[in-house]
Amino acid sequence: MHPHQILVILAILAGLAYSLHGPIELNNAIEEPVTSQDQSESLRLKLRGVTKQLDYQCGPSYGSCPSGTCCSSADKSPVGPPTKEIPRPHIGRVPYGPQEIRSCTVPGTIALTFDDGPTRYTGDLLDLLDRYDAPATFFVTGINNGKGPIDDPSLPWAELIERMIISGHQVASHTWSHEDLSKVTPEQRADQMLKNEVALRNILGSFPTYMRPPYSSCLPGSGCREDLGDFGYHIVLYDFDTDDYKNDSPNLIQLSKDIFDRFLNAGNSKINSWLIIAHDAHEQTVHNLTEHMLKTSKRLGYRPVTVGDCLRDPRDNWYRADSTWVGQKNKKKTPKKGPKKSNVPQQVSVDGTCGANYTCLGSRFGLCCGSNNVCGNTTTHCGHGCKKEAGYCAIHVPPNGDAWDPVSPGGKAAKSEADSNVRVVGTAAATSLVLALIVAMWM
Ligand SMILES: [Zn+2]
Repeated sequence: MHPHQILVILAILAGLAYSLHGPIELNNAIEEPVTSQDQSESLRLKLRGVTKQLDYQCGPSYGSCPSGTCCSSADKSPVGPPTKEIPRPHIGRVPYGPQEIRSCTVPGTIALTFDDGPTRYTGDLLDLLDRYDAPATFFVTGINNGKGPIDDPSLPWAELIERMIISGHQVASHTWSHEDLSKVTPEQRADQMLKNEVALRNILGSFPTYMRPPYSSCLPGSGCREDLGDFGYHIVLYDFDTDDYKNDSPNLIQLSKDIFDRFLNAGNSKINSWLIIAHDAHEQTVHNLTEHMLKTSKRLGYRPVTVGDCLRDPRDNWYRADSTWVGQKNKKKTPKKGPKKSNVPQQVSVDGTCGANYTCLGSRFGLCCGSNNVCGNTTTHCGHGCKKEAGYCAIHVPPNGDAWDPVSPGGKAAKSEADSNVRVVGTAAATSLVLALIVAMWM
């Protein structure tokens, strides 16, 4: 055979090999398949100087991989003491597993929930929710889609999760690597919950009591619901699904808006409430659908709240503290290019005190810095005099459960939808401005 014929054959073989290793075809999951955010997300992280953990071909939504070659994120573990031995009493009146929660109980409330984050879109979503002064609930995953562990201080996720708390949102668990909890062994199920607990504890000093199973799958007979009850979790599903994961394009997202409008228009804010699922992993959800949901909710007299608030569960019950935790040694300090304010907390409180130099976030003493410069979770700490610059300050649901804007029927409500883009509310506006400045200077 002539040498150039051999070269041609080699070239053909190389081409074949390349095509066989091309992009992996995504399988359609039952719920919430993940968008292919691979390339742009990789680029964004590279621009941030983060070059590791960019393997985005992992996770259950990507189908199966050859043994030991791809879906290894479930095998990774967050660093730090385990949470397994922490007592898990069922506190409060909201049912724990095996019972599932599918709706809110406070009339006139709407609980928008976002699964699968934090992602590259989550910061924009937090900006939007700040602008509308609208608390929401985030069911966060620890490491799925190869985004890297949420508690890795070199990645942006931990700060986004802290910001969720600071802005008055609820943080809940969506497992470590988004496995179908009905299809795994009891040991793997425990692993999925406990690893995410450690990672969230590393960020917040406590971990959630609320969770949503990936794919909303926790089937009777699998042992899933009982196990989650034993772990001390409320299993949260939803009234209706916006189907946003199916409609993540400018041409299709109207279908999700139509679903949302159909349900809300059929209800009455004096007697109804809503628990709704969406995903901050999808661009159109964050940049299009959510503002529509907020405007429509307000026009119809609903008040956006967290899941805990829509069930009238006191905030103290949303998390379990790790009393042995003394803060993360490698916790990232304030943003490198943030405003140079001397009163920005730089250390996690190690003795329960807080204020100018110490934050309650990430400590084991509670997330709110009270007027007495002590961390805690009670109303005294989180209410009047709470220091927002040194921890979280709760916004509780009024005891009467009144709707968000009950005195704006008819024409006034219609007008408020049109101008609600520019309507900003006191502290929310100030917070947004400061956060926008930090983000702008940081990018
Ligand atoms: Zn999910």
